[in-house]
Amino acid sequence: MTAHNPAKVIAITGASSGIGEAAARRLAADGHRLLLGARRTERLSRLARELTAAGGTVAAERLDVTDAADVRDFVACAREHYGRVDVMVNNAGVMPLSPLAALRTDEWDRMIDVNVRGVLHGIAAALPVMRGQGGGHIVNIASVGAYEVSPTAAVYCATKFAVRAISEGLRQESAGDIRVTLVSPGVTESELAEGITDPAAREAMKAYRAAALPASAIADAIAYAVAQPPQVDVNEIVVRPTASAQ
Ligand code: NDP
Repeated sequence: MTAHNPAKVIAITGASSGIGEAAARRLAADGHRLLLGARRTERLSRLARELTAAGGTVAAERLDVTDAADVRDFVACAREHYGRVDVMVNNAGVMPLSPLAALRTDEWDRMIDVNVRGVLHGIAAALPVMRGQGGGHIVNIASVGAYEVSPTAAVYCATKFAVRAISEGLRQESAGDIRVTLVSPGVTESELAEGITDPAAREAMKAYRAAALPASAIADAIAYAVAQPPQVDVNEIVVRPTASAQ
């Protein structure tokens, strides 16, 4: 840590796998103090133990981002542990792709609940704490699907367009004390595609995902935004595999 990049308290949702886990590894290595949240507590605890053994300051808490009270408790827990919350990384997300005509309405609801409501719950929980302490940084994980729509991804892209709109609105309303960063990954190695139940959408994903970036590439983008000095607000980062057109 340097005066330019002081250690921060960072809460990360969806830290039990993929991009959230990679972000935890990178941000712990950078010397930040972390609270990790997700539903699979065994994996979270194992990660927290591993990072702590390597010299990090890392705690873990069960979290379901679809429950506003749960997210409030999560942020309160970070504050109890460390006295403040400098950065909230709203990363938890699901992507059960399917054509609209398949009418998988439960999956549409789940994407809206996790990807949109989850991010709003994170903002609602963190914003008052950050305002109270005189500043903070909200990092929302969207997708290249926040910029373009493709077949089977209408609802998923809608949730990510929403995350982008919410982030931009928050940025405009929060100028002065809250930094807002939208990180939009292209295809990245993770467990995200395992939630696809539609057979055709699942098959189509196989070729697309062959070019996937390591999750550490997205973690590096998050760490870059976090490391900037207070007067620098990195608003949007899109990270695609060089080999990928989408
Ligand atoms: P993973 O499936 O590997 O990780 C998703 C994480 O979200 C897990 O830790 C999961 O934990 C958590 N999660 C899911 N539902 C909930 C919930 N209700 N409450 C709390 N946590 C939850 O996928 P990724 O790492 O890829 O996904 C991270 C983000 O990146 C998502 O927002 C995704 O949309 C976005 N993204 C990913 C891309 C990719 O190609 N991988 C591309 C573009 C964007 P648990 O199940 O333990 O709760």
